[in-house]
Amino acid sequence: MTTTSSYRSPRILLKELGITEPEDLKIEAIAEYCNATIIYEPLKGSAARILGYGDRAIITVDSQSRRERQRFSAGHELGHWLQDRGKVSSFTCTEKVFLSEWSGDNPERRANRYTAELLLPDFMVEPRAKNQEMTFETVRSLAEAFQMSLTAVAIRLVEVGSFPALLVCSEAGKRRWFVRGPDVPEVIWPKEYPNAYTIAFELHRGGTAEKSSTDIQADGWIDHAQSKWYTLREDSVKTNHGYVLSLLWWKDERQLLDLEEQE
Ligand SMILES: [Zn+2]
Repeated sequence: MTTTSSYRSPRILLKELGITEPEDLKIEAIAEYCNATIIYEPLKGSAARILGYGDRAIITVDSQSRRERQRFSAGHELGHWLQDRGKVSSFTCTEKVFLSEWSGDNPERRANRYTAELLLPDFMVEPRAKNQEMTFETVRSLAEAFQMSLTAVAIRLVEVGSFPALLVCSEAGKRRWFVRGPDVPEVIWPKEYPNAYTIAFELHRGGTAEKSSTDIQADGWIDHAQSKWYTLREDSVKTNHGYVLSLLWWKDERQLLDLEEQE
């Protein structure tokens, strides 16, 4: 039997609801439509949790966290509800999970993807990101328009933006996960340890970064025999829990294509 809480992709769900603009992405109404009620309460040690009872669920979101975090958390729990119900009837999720689970295949990563695609739909993000630089300035302006967290917006920018880019999350100087934009060839891999000339390295050392993106020698970041002859643009910021997010991008696509040919 198909019920309102049956699984469907974010795109189908938005289509069913006729949502076409960022201001109509009201997570409470979307969740309610899927038989999940969102309530706000102070939570200790977690950002959100979900409890399912048969065909209904209650999502509790920490009333003390910022609005964009609350929206992300609520969408994440809705992702659990629609994707993993039947297997698990309750989840308790921390903010650290939202920052760290973006690779591999597990319920947390799938719930993160669900909320990113539901609250930052490609058909709304793509036209707003068109020809915009792949920087945290662009990320911040999209984050404001969509009321979403920087990490989720940066991932979506890399996926649908106009220039080839990678987003790398590092912790204590070491790469933790990365997202490759569709125009970045598979031979291009970010290093496990970005070198001392990268902005990320400086931030991990406790330094501060330039405000906008900077040209750096590509071998600071890219594992490739010829990369020292090329450049890329880096914009890095420090986020919660000591993670550094780095947008690596190429305004001049030839730099990237040359590297691919040299392989
Ligand atoms: Zn979760």
